[in-house]
Amino acid sequence: MHKSKDIYKEITISRGFGEGEERLPFVPWGTSSSFNSGIKTMLSYPAKLRDSLKKLGRSKSMQLVLEGAHDPKDEQLVESFRELLFIEGQLPGKYSDYHTLLRFLRKRDFDFSKAKETFLNYLKWRRNFRVDMIPKEFKFEEFEDVKKCYHHGYHGVDRLGRPVYIERVGMVDLNKLFQLTTIERFVKYHVSEQEKTINLRYPACSVAAKRHISSTTSIVDVNGVGMSNFSKQARSLFLEIQKIDSNYYPETLHRLFIINAGSGFKMLWKALKAFLDARTVAKIRVLGYDYLRALLEIIDPSNLPIFLGGNCTCSDYGGCLLSDKGPWKNPEILELLQTKYAAEEMYSNGGNGNKASEDAPVLNMADIENKDSSTKSTSRHEEPALVGSENAYKLASIKIKGLEAALRDTKNKIEALEAALEETKMVLKGLAQHLEEECGI
Ligand SMILES: [Zn+2]
Repeated sequence: MHKSKDIYKEITISRGFGEGEERLPFVPWGTSSSFNSGIKTMLSYPAKLRDSLKKLGRSKSMQLVLEGAHDPKDEQLVESFRELLFIEGQLPGKYSDYHTLLRFLRKRDFDFSKAKETFLNYLKWRRNFRVDMIPKEFKFEEFEDVKKCYHHGYHGVDRLGRPVYIERVGMVDLNKLFQLTTIERFVKYHVSEQEKTINLRYPACSVAAKRHISSTTSIVDVNGVGMSNFSKQARSLFLEIQKIDSNYYPETLHRLFIINAGSGFKMLWKALKAFLDARTVAKIRVLGYDYLRALLEIIDPSNLPIFLGGNCTCSDYGGCLLSDKGPWKNPEILELLQTKYAAEEMYSNGGNGNKASEDAPVLNMADIENKDSSTKSTSRHEEPALVGSENAYKLASIKIKGLEAALRDTKNKIEALEAALEETKMVLKGLAQHLEEECGI
């Protein structure tokens, strides 16, 4: 479902890459050190934490905003899907929140069997690719140079509060890019950015827009892009990124505007379109050089870079695609999210704040976020409710773990019984044979 994004990646690759994004690509949720120290500071000073929690409590709709209103029909389907995974002993708590499961169901048009297969592949990929460890283990040191030949980045929000992602693929210098980095490293960087979007950009945008945000509006400037740009190396990178986006981050693209499409690109587009399903194609608008009106309908000029016809320059950062401007950089929103995650981390560790700060710093924000998702529907508003829901969550987790263990145990017993039955069959068969030989029965 995310193929549309892949498409522009393909085009991206065909031209080389340009401006970069923000300063800490290898730390998916941005200011990791300040985030980390923020948590530590909060946990070290209960009074400060209390104040922050009060502040959090006053933000009555925060949980609701982050979680969004659930459609009862979707909720029922997600619940059935969850049960299906659980029955097969395949439900990992941390990635089974409502929105993640729903994304996978939607990707497969609510075909449970296909959705299950895709979701299990996703879990396997997370384990094998060590996605949770990327922020800890991977440093994209070449980022500063890469962003000079690959102009891309998040920049502000659309009129409904979704993050806006921009790529100027016509300006990409692919040869230079591959002198600076490798496909493998670039893919890791891409994954770290995807994780940051899921774990930080969407929650921050949700807080800012006061509504649940879980998808991105993308703009790809294909000025000068045509068939001739699509080299073998470009194809390899495109295919790898397409696979990741489509299989593991489905349903996160809201709309994709391809702009400055000339005749060369339009030919390429005909070929690319054949690889996309109708649902994805419906999200893509291919516009020529007269694209501005369409963009301004969905993005305020203050959030549109000057090079696309808006009035933002981000001069303090050296350009719009270097600023990573957006609610995810708003200190108040960050503080609110940090406080929330820190509080949840602390409660989920039985109030052992120091343990949380030492063992599970910002790097576990993805975990925290998912735990959060599991509890959001019950924890609202007031501090005691938050604590209560955390306890309920812990209790439910324990119960689930117990049930999972019981299920495994039962499976083992069934296997043992089957083996015993097989043995009995053999014995009986031998006995029958013996009787036949001895007694002539
Ligand atoms: Zn700007």
